[in-house]
Amino acid sequence: MNAGYLEKLNPEQRLAVEHGTEIEGSHISGPLLVIAGAGSGKTNTLAHRVAHLIVKGADPRRILLMTFSRRAASEMARRVERICTQVLGANAGIITDALAWTGTFHGIGARLLRDYAEQIGLDPAFTIHDREDSADLMNLVRHELGFSKTESRFPTKGTCLAIYSRVVNSETALEQILRDAFPWCAAWEKQLRELFAAYVEAKQVQNVLDYDDLLLYWAHMVHEPLIADDIGGRFDHVLVDEYQDTNRLQSSILMALKPGGHGLTVVGDDAQSIYSFRAATVRNILDFPGSFSPAANVVTLDRNYRSTQPILAAANAVIDLASERFTKNLRTERQSAERPRLVTVRDEADQARYVADMVLENREGGTRLKQQAVLFRASGHSGPLEIELTRRNIPFVKFGGLKFLDSAHVKDMLAALRFAQNPRDRVAGFRLMQLLPGVGPSTAQRVLDQMSETANPIGALTDIPTPARTGDDWTSFVATLQELQTGKAGWPAEIGLVRRWYEPHLDRLHEDASMRQADLIQLEQIAGGYPSRERFLTELTLDPPDATSDQAGVPLLDEDYLILSTIHSAKGQEWTKVFMLNVVDGCIPSDLGVGTSAEIEEERRLLYVAMTRAKDSLDLVLPQRFFTHGQNAQGDRHVYASRSRFIPATLLQFFEVCGWPQVRADSAAMAQARQVRVDVGARMRGMWR
Ligand code: ATP
Ligand code: MG
Repeated sequence: MNAGYLEKLNPEQRLAVEHGTEIEGSHISGPLLVIAGAGSGKTNTLAHRVAHLIVKGADPRRILLMTFSRRAASEMARRVERICTQVLGANAGIITDALAWTGTFHGIGARLLRDYAEQIGLDPAFTIHDREDSADLMNLVRHELGFSKTESRFPTKGTCLAIYSRVVNSETALEQILRDAFPWCAAWEKQLRELFAAYVEAKQVQNVLDYDDLLLYWAHMVHEPLIADDIGGRFDHVLVDEYQDTNRLQSSILMALKPGGHGLTVVGDDAQSIYSFRAATVRNILDFPGSFSPAANVVTLDRNYRSTQPILAAANAVIDLASERFTKNLRTERQSAERPRLVTVRDEADQARYVADMVLENREGGTRLKQQAVLFRASGHSGPLEIELTRRNIPFVKFGGLKFLDSAHVKDMLAALRFAQNPRDRVAGFRLMQLLPGVGPSTAQRVLDQMSETANPIGALTDIPTPARTGDDWTSFVATLQELQTGKAGWPAEIGLVRRWYEPHLDRLHEDASMRQADLIQLEQIAGGYPSRERFLTELTLDPPDATSDQAGVPLLDEDYLILSTIHSAKGQEWTKVFMLNVVDGCIPSDLGVGTSAEIEEERRLLYVAMTRAKDSLDLVLPQRFFTHGQNAQGDRHVYASRSRFIPATLLQFFEVCGWPQVRADSAAMAQARQVRVDVGARMRGMWR
């Protein structure tokens, strides 16, 4: 057997990979935590551990591997496959096919809930609401209760959903969440409680689950000891990457699945915890060792393999100023004379030109577009760059931005499939019916009410009088749903059925129908990659494809394209050359995140995450001024921005400070910038108005 894969690891990584596996057969190891800084090989170690377990005889069907995104999950599966191929030869493909329980917490939760639905009184035909659908349902309930009318300044649907979600994921009382995170909503505690109760009831009546339910139901399910034993017993090994960004529900699920921690491995970095706004808590990783008796094994890694020494030194300097002390001091052996750059540009237009110029120059120098990434704090920050890239025909894919599935026509198609799957899903039904000319909200509501009174809602549609002025459109709507319900067309052919029904509406509703039509064909192709309607809907709702520059929906797999990504979506990844946009106060820290010192600290960790994505070169770009739209009596004007407070003057030694095209960083304008109070964040918010 070729164990060369172990020799490439350093001693600590090897300790983690081999932990408890020396004895072949059924020996299952105690709990293990790998806690280490960015780029130290945590994910790599986890992949090696999975491969090693398989090589040592573990059954891949009995391995549960959870990562942060589907992209990360498939990347992990690829790494495991590569190692297994190396060691075991041709069998490896079969082995990794069997590695079926690899995915995100939410995706795995959805699958387990379908398997155990009946045991917990859930109809297995449930559909899943994405955040937008959830907000729509929250809104519907809000209106039904009359809060939006009678209570002036009642929280918006988005805020209501955020509060609800925070309560659920942190397992904390509403009262405390309001006090700590939403003090301006505290006056509505009573109404919010009523609203959330009604929201939960509406979901149950309609047989829909929102994202939070996937964890919540799962957590409730595994608190039933018999079910917990059964699910826990399906998996010999449970492994989790990016553990610092899990919330309390997720850790309680793990603890219930593996109460003694046997076969449990988690890896993460407390300095990279960036999801507290979704109730993630760094306590999970810090408290992990002590949750077991005897305590879990802890492995720390201190060598960074990703970045050059000057980049790592700058990133370490940024995180060293944090108020908390992170234990790791990373070192690297990748020497380089090139310090990261701090590039001052005049404004966002110049920033876009600078990045586009550099990206092309790098490509000429041999760095493919795919090996370069542009990162930003908020999705809206990349707008001017996207325009510049499009103008220059530089292809790009954007992670964490507007999704293919967010476009109205794709949502319409999916609503039809979802409604056929679960005709009690009112948000889907509401959307669909209102596509028909002559059907407004009150008609849709009436029909949905009538449907919900029967055991076979779609069958009942034939008996419901045709709504006025709908004629043939109604007939073909009903016929399509009924055909879908029979399942005769089969998967994925039935998506063609939906498309034929939808096309006339598309033509009527959208001027650019022919462009949108291409997306529908694309959707059909994507659908072909999934075994069933239900898997397709689940996976797409949980982790939709990213937006691309040609709007085709799926990344152009074989081609070369630049990566644009929010920092949150860049987690765990690495690129040869990285650009970070808008490294100014108001953007990072975001002016939305400077309420409490904890929020500011999280913004600092975000910058650390961004900087540590870079292997060979890192450019932090600072526009000197931003353009605001009519924020004051003078109308539009420029405001000056100042360098992010996370890079104070004492850290400038870690950077090569320069200007582009001719701006000098210490120019009069920069001096002036420090004098002016700036509200860049307000401008950023203005983009969404
Ligand atoms: P992050 O905190 O950003 O998630 P990480 O700790 O998960 O980072 P990896 O992504 O696993 O780090 O590894 C970073 C880089 O270092 C990868 O390119 C990986 O291939 C490389 N690497 C990891 N371990 C070794 C090793 N022992 N020898 C050589 N290269 C290594
Ligand atoms: Mg990682």
